[in-house]
Formats: sequence, structure tokens, C-alpha cells
Amino acid sequence: MQNSELPAILGGTPVREKKIYYGHQCIEDDDIEAVVKVLKSDTLTCGPAIPSLERALCRLTGAEYCVAVANGTAALHIACLAAGIGPGDEVITTPMTFAASANCALYCGARPVFADINPDTYNIDPAEIERKITPRTKAVVAVDFTGQVVEIERIRAICDKHGLIFIEDAAHSIGSAYNGVPVGSLADMTTFSFHPVKTVTGGEGGAVMTSDPKLYERLSLFRTHGITREQSLMDKESEGGWYYQMVDLGYNYRITDFQAALIESQLHKIERFKQRRKEIVARYNQAFADREEIFVQKEIPQADTTRHLYIVQLKLNKLKAGRKEIFDALACENVQCNVHYIPIYTFPYYRKLGYKPGLCPKAEAAYEGFLSIPLYPAMTDEDVEDVIKAFYKVLDWYKLQ
Ligand SMILES: *Cc1c(COP(=O)(O)O)cnc(C)c1O
Repeated sequence: MQNSELPAILGGTPVREKKIYYGHQCIEDDDIEAVVKVLKSDTLTCGPAIPSLERALCRLTGAEYCVAVANGTAALHIACLAAGIGPGDEVITTPMTFAASANCALYCGARPVFADINPDTYNIDPAEIERKITPRTKAVVAVDFTGQVVEIERIRAICDKHGLIFIEDAAHSIGSAYNGVPVGSLADMTTFSFHPVKTVTGGEGGAVMTSDPKLYERLSLFRTHGITREQSLMDKESEGGWYYQMVDLGYNYRITDFQAALIESQLHKIERFKQRRKEIVARYNQAFADREEIFVQKEIPQADTTRHLYIVQLKLNKLKAGRKEIFDALACENVQCNVHYIPIYTFPYYRKLGYKPGLCPKAEAAYEGFLSIPLYPAMTDEDVEDVIKAFYKVLDWYKLQ
């Protein structure tokens, strides 16, 4: 049936009255109480809420160790430092991610090298990783884009063959699993972000998971200035109870206790968040399956995905409007989409470093049609149906007959 309702952008009535965004946190009374409890306690930083969160993350992921930090970007930075990445090294990552996944290599004086994506899953293509390896390659930063885990066995095999450290940027994928193994114990190091659009939030916050005691020791040092009270790490006998040494150049990447308490409180809800996200994804998949004007992300059977983003990829050759017009038309229906992501190396800063457009053609082509549509656990069924209605309305109007 052809829906010929006039889009709001052309003067019609919007599908919904209140704007809905692509992501939103879900903070409940018990989360607030957890924060208030810390605020009334003696310690706002370096207190007991931090090891408590770290233990909770280890239980969730099966990893041996966790270092909680100020944000996901700091987590990536100390992961690269712990991996020993420095000037002259190369780090392979995907262009289809937030800038931090590549910036972490630049922070260490290394060069990010971009490997193209698989156009069906949008995750980094292991064959492309292998093509980009040189004698200078030190690590792979693989991103679980939208929450779907990357092809773990193939990337693990490549890293083992070439002696590379495998860092998984799991900012999107807390709660996901691969062949039944939870994210957090799949790679050498796994990083999380607790930004408010992510599945679990602390306002800001991040963590690195590892099961390697040596990496854990280095991650802990880099979190706090390279300072230690650990006798085994000092070059002489302690001078007394006050004594510490700075043995490396680290940073202040600490998280506060009240953020840690908020994240731990949110972790108790992860099963519920996960189920609700899955329900919404299933409904979208069903609603969009037969629409010829769009393509939706393929899921691989090994991955059990807590989806962070739902991406609709417009087939621009089947539409008489461009992505920008569709984006604007949906915004007028009060469905505010977003776009994840602009391929990193196309940014002016990266172009100044010598990166050229055309480096990863599949990522660039995918970007042209991408729209991230609302997906978060607090969405009601009515919200979900509104998003679908708005898409049908706009696609029906702009599709090529
Ligand atoms: C959000 C995000 C980050 C950075 O996390 P922050 O907590 O915002 O610093 C890194 N990588 C990816 C893929 C992200 O989505």
C-alpha cells in the first residue's frame, strides 16, 4: 500500500509530537541512591567503590583484572601504553569508529593504519588487517561496531602469527558475547566506555579488562602518574609509610567513587537493558526486512549482541533524495537520527598527517547511506512504532517509483 501522507518537512503533520533521540541513558531511583550514598561517605575518589566496580566487571566478563578509569578514551590510551606502543610503531584499526579508537595510537607517537570494513557487518575485515601488516605493526585495535563482536578467531590467529597485541574497543559491546564467551575476556585487553549513550553509564567512565598480570600492573601504573607503592616495582627499600616512587610517566586517569557506584548500580540492570535492546532490534529488523530502499546490518551467528546502535543504511540509488534530506525529513517527524561514523582519516587533522580519501572505499560508501535510529531501553513500544511509522512515511514519499 502506498502511503502518500505529506512529510512534516513539506508541511504535513509530524508522526510524533515529542522529539526522540538516537540514544538516552536510563537512570532509576536506586542508581541515584547509590551515588548519594557515596557523596555522604568519606571518600569521593580512590575509595572502596572503585575496586568494588572492578570486581563486578571481572564477574560480568570473566576477565581476571580490571582497571577502571575516567573515560573510554583514557582506557584506550593506557591499553596502548601497556602494550608498549611508541614512536615508529603502527596500530591497525577501523575507520568506521569514533576518533578515539585511532587517536590512542597518535597519543603514543605511533601511526594508526586503517583497514577497511566488511560491508555486511560493518566490522573490520580480518583479511584487510592482514593486508596492512608491516614489520612496524604492534597492535590491532578492533572495534565491536554497534555492539556486534568482531571476528575473534580470525583476528586472534592474525595477531598470534605476527606477534601483535589484540586490543578490543568494546565501547559499544558490554554484555555481548562470542561463542558464549563474554566480551572482556576475548582479547589481550578490552576497553569499555560508560558515556551516557552507551549501554551502561557513569556520566563519564571507562575500564580496561585483561587476564595478563603484567599488563594489569602497567595499566594500574599509567592510571595514576606512573606512581607505585609496590615494593617489587621500586628501585630501593621504602623509606617509610608515606613513601612511593614514580617509575614511569603516567597520567591522572582516575574515576571518582560516585561515578564508579553509578556504573556498578547500572551493571545490575544489564540483563534487562540487553533484553529490551534485543526486543527493539528484533522489531526493527522485522519492520525493515522488506523495504527495498534500505539495508540493515548483518548479524554473524557466533555473536550474541547487545546492540548499542541500530543503523539503517539507505540505498541511495532507490531514493530520489539524498541522506541529508532523509535525515532532515525524519527530524521534522521528530525522529532525530545521528550518523556513526564519519571515516576517521577523512578529518582535516588526519589529512594533515597525510591520510587520503579513498583509503577504505567500503567504509566511505557505507558512511554515505548511514543513519543511526533511536535505540535505548527506556523507549516504549509506542516510541518504537513511531520511529517505524516515520521511516515508512519518509521512504514512501522519497522512494523512486
Ligand atoms: C564512546 C566511544 C569511545 C570513547 O569513549 P569515551 O568514554 O567517550 O571517552 C571509544 N571508542 C568507541 C567506539 C566509542 O563509541
